[in-house]
Amino acid sequence: MRTIALTNQKGGVGKTTTAVNLSASLARLGQRVLFIDCDAQSNGTLSFGLNAGRLETTVYDLFTGEARAEDAIVRYSDLLHVIPATPDLAGGEAEKSPLASRGQALKQALAGLTDYDYIIVDCPPTLGLINVNVLVFVDEVIIPMQCQFFALQGVSLLLKTIEMVQKRVNPRLTIAGVLACMYDARTTLSREVLEEIRKHFGSKVFNAKIRTNVRLAESPSFGKPVIDYAPESNGAQDYMALAREVLGVAADGKSPDARQVTA
Ligand code: ATP
Ligand code: MG
Repeated sequence: MRTIALTNQKGGVGKTTTAVNLSASLARLGQRVLFIDCDAQSNGTLSFGLNAGRLETTVYDLFTGEARAEDAIVRYSDLLHVIPATPDLAGGEAEKSPLASRGQALKQALAGLTDYDYIIVDCPPTLGLINVNVLVFVDEVIIPMQCQFFALQGVSLLLKTIEMVQKRVNPRLTIAGVLACMYDARTTLSREVLEEIRKHFGSKVFNAKIRTNVRLAESPSFGKPVIDYAPESNGAQDYMALAREVLGVAADGKSPDARQVTA
């Protein structure tokens, strides 16, 4: 089982869009996937068509230790399950529980969950305790970056946080890759920013890049990942390409596990 967080404290860079659509694309490739929403904005939860008002058990209860993971799981499809979030995660109460304040809440709540090939976690745009709990739990992070000015601003703080968690609590933690999001090949700016990202991260940058595509922005309001909402769109193709790269499968779908993405 691989556990991957989408993290970047910079807001609006494509964390949620990537977490949702990578999850759906991996499921499309036959993987059993659990998506966990760890952001109080609950955009990921809404993107799967789940109504926050009707959810009784959520990720909040995993942070407070009041529920087991199994109780919070909702099925989006046979292969794709979701642990939703609601705005109450923003209240600050969740982080106060003894487990969460030590960073261990998610890890404890999800221990023993073996039914999945992938657990994909969406993070909030902060480097607070919720994020730390996620980094203590996962083995890998994907850092999405928006191909705009200031893409690399704040990245050293993010890398320091990852390194700190790695040194102190979670030696398995690695960076699976950096992902260029909202890429527009027609603009010099996008190309230059991608160049900068590559200079900074070298081979860690995924070959797949996510083009700006209106279908990706529309699909959450239909409660579906883009692969279900607009399967022919560039957005769907780009996230399938990312899923194959994460999976280590060639574009022709052959040679599974030929190339595992490693740090
Ligand atoms: P936050 O930090 O607030 O959690 P985020 O990093 O999760 O934001 P998203 O919510 O994924 O970022 O994306 C920000 C906005 O950009 C959303 O409205 C989303 O629909 C849109 N968006 C993301 N990726 C694309 C894309 N490739 N093409 C077009 N729109 C996109
Ligand atoms: Mg988000």
